[in-house]
Amino acid sequence: MKPENEAGFNTRAVHTGRGFTGATGAVMPPIYLTSTFEQGNAEGFDYTRSGNPNFRLLAESVAAAEGAAFATCFASGVSAITAVVSSLKSGDLVLAEENLYGCTYRMFERVFGKFGLQARYVDLSREENWEEIRRSRPTLVWLESPTNPLLKIVDIAGISRVAAEVGAATLVDNTFASPFLQRPLELGATLSLSSTTKYINGHSDCLGGIVATNDKGWHSRMDFAQKALGLQPSPFDAWLTTRGQRTLALRMERHCANALELARWLESRKGVRLVRYPFLPSHPQYELARRQMRGGSGMVIAEFDCSTEKALAFCHRLRLFTLAESLGGVESLVCHPPTMTHAQVPAKVRHAVGISDGLIRFSVGIEDFEDLRRDIDEALTEILG
Ligand SMILES: *Cc1c(COP(=O)(O)O)cnc(C)c1O
Repeated sequence: MKPENEAGFNTRAVHTGRGFTGATGAVMPPIYLTSTFEQGNAEGFDYTRSGNPNFRLLAESVAAAEGAAFATCFASGVSAITAVVSSLKSGDLVLAEENLYGCTYRMFERVFGKFGLQARYVDLSREENWEEIRRSRPTLVWLESPTNPLLKIVDIAGISRVAAEVGAATLVDNTFASPFLQRPLELGATLSLSSTTKYINGHSDCLGGIVATNDKGWHSRMDFAQKALGLQPSPFDAWLTTRGQRTLALRMERHCANALELARWLESRKGVRLVRYPFLPSHPQYELARRQMRGGSGMVIAEFDCSTEKALAFCHRLRLFTLAESLGGVESLVCHPPTMTHAQVPAKVRHAVGISDGLIRFSVGIEDFEDLRRDIDEALTEILG
């Protein structure tokens, strides 16, 4: 049964991406572990690098969640970024939000820079800087919202509108919000990119990436990049991600509830210098977050008045939060950005943008809130007094 287009988010999440079961009666799709397909088959598959039933099911499922006409899946979030950036040409300019995912920055500067791609970085959370879009006329405007790790909120609708005025496409890296909380294409963006490794799969057991769009030209460029650059996922990982995606809404509701409660509690606890969470009224862009997101997501950052050594000791002392990079899984994780995700950024630059030595990033899982709160409380008392 094909779900109606106007079905709700949860109905679409459960019912989309269940085809290809033939006459078997199987309720869920098999994993098509095949490298090649017999020529002339009715579905038009030929070789798994350029398409596989599990890719198609995943793409349909995420496209439904994003409210998109098309989606193309990749081996990782970085593969998805590679697909987009490789579609540009020498001399093209990407104007990017300055608080950018590290691997995206590295790809612009150290990989595609060699081939003549230009990238410029501005603080797109400040409206006066949007003028730079009109002035520099980029091919692509690239932003994340919320950003990593500072959870800045960037106005997707406003920026997409200005970019469209000068004929630029807008890409939103939607990884931190997930399509349950934020749908960039409905806000005017051209492309919505996600590392499905995070919330969409949600179980920290495989990597993946996806790009959703309503633009036919961009869609065919994404399909081309998948096969021309060999960026396809494995059918098994695509199957796992489709499975994870079915419970995205339920998981996100719990991530949001736990994270909001944790952020409120941290804000009132002594010894905590600053707490940042998009749905806390103290967030500088609280109103905008409420406007473009349906929940604050599961990421919380807190700044403690302490050294790197103490911050790391605190992270190691936690029992329920594992010290690890990545985010968005059912289990809680903790990260110390200055020594982990942002270790390659020079200390001076780090401090200037607000990544201090005592900054901690929590990926709040779906465990019982009280257990998470107690874990943090005990670690804080023991390490920071
Ligand atoms: C993790 C992440 C990526 C890269 O995704 P991988 O699946 O790890 O390759 C891209 N953007 C953001 C915001 C991320 O958090």
